[in-house]
Amino acid sequence: MEIKVDEAYIMSSMKELINTPSPVGYFEECEPLLERYFKELGVEATYDNRHTAYITLEGEDTSKTVCVGAHVDTIGLVVHHIEKDGSLKVKNIGGNNLHSLEHEKMYVITQDGRKYTGYLTCVSHSVHVFDDAKTLPREEVNMRVLLDEDVQSDEDVLKLGIMHGDVISAEPHFEYMENGRIRSRYIDDKAAVAASLATIKYLKENNLKPKYTTMFAFPYYEELGFGGSYVPKEVSEYVALDIGVIGPEHRGTEKDVSIVSKDVKGPYDRVLTKRLVEKAEKIGIKYSVEVFNRYSTDSMAAFVAGNDIAAGAFGMTVYTSHGVERTFDSSIFNTAKLTIAYVLDI
Ligand SMILES: [Zn+2]
Repeated sequence: MEIKVDEAYIMSSMKELINTPSPVGYFEECEPLLERYFKELGVEATYDNRHTAYITLEGEDTSKTVCVGAHVDTIGLVVHHIEKDGSLKVKNIGGNNLHSLEHEKMYVITQDGRKYTGYLTCVSHSVHVFDDAKTLPREEVNMRVLLDEDVQSDEDVLKLGIMHGDVISAEPHFEYMENGRIRSRYIDDKAAVAASLATIKYLKENNLKPKYTTMFAFPYYEELGFGGSYVPKEVSEYVALDIGVIGPEHRGTEKDVSIVSKDVKGPYDRVLTKRLVEKAEKIGIKYSVEVFNRYSTDSMAAFVAGNDIAAGAFGMTVYTSHGVERTFDSSIFNTAKLTIAYVLDI
């Protein structure tokens, strides 16, 4: 059977989400954006104390509650220390590849919401000056954010309202091409957030109830491995929508949905994974079943934290994860289709 999703809606919401910064824990901009989407869909969110939004839709069968999670947070940086010369030492939040961020435009966001631009560069910054400009390891300790403001000292930076702990997000450079290719930072996991919204839209427009009561969760702490550590107690099954990755030991391509059977922390629930595979077959999407060894998800985090759930995971497959990522639109559309098949249990 074929499921038709609103492809234009997925692409436009994904683009808007990607262009709205949300490094781990920074919910202030995406929360009102998601509220706007929820309002348009005619649904109302509830929140836990971690700012996770939940859209709960009553099921045909209310004896069981399942959760579909798509994390809103992305990897990013924070201001670790303002140096005497006005440069900013940084700390990673999440698994950055700093090579990918060198000379990238960065946004430093203050506690009161002011935004300053700058770029990330190495302390051995110029090939005409430093012997090790090309070879100094691109590690936190060797990298600095230089602000575009005319600052000469730490005092100048403090006057801008910038403090230790302020969040830093990279320019995503979202591009969607004629042939369906997407190249952008933060496809992980904004594409899945868009797929989740498209699933809610599909249910609403077709007047359908999910098979079981379903909570769509939008957490902000996945990239540090604990976005799923709290799950509302009524949830007995948690499916994380998250990226799949590409490599010599994986079968997936940028046109496939990756169904994760095991990650670095352990195996996903066998019955749930089998059901996901069966549904992928039934709706006729391209997919692969994968073991990811440097990877985990919020549903696995929920399981490991001791929540009494069965865990599953699938999502669009991306190249150069946690850098400037690539995929094809079809893998995102198919992620939405598999999500619909899962919640309707068809
Ligand atoms: Zn992710």
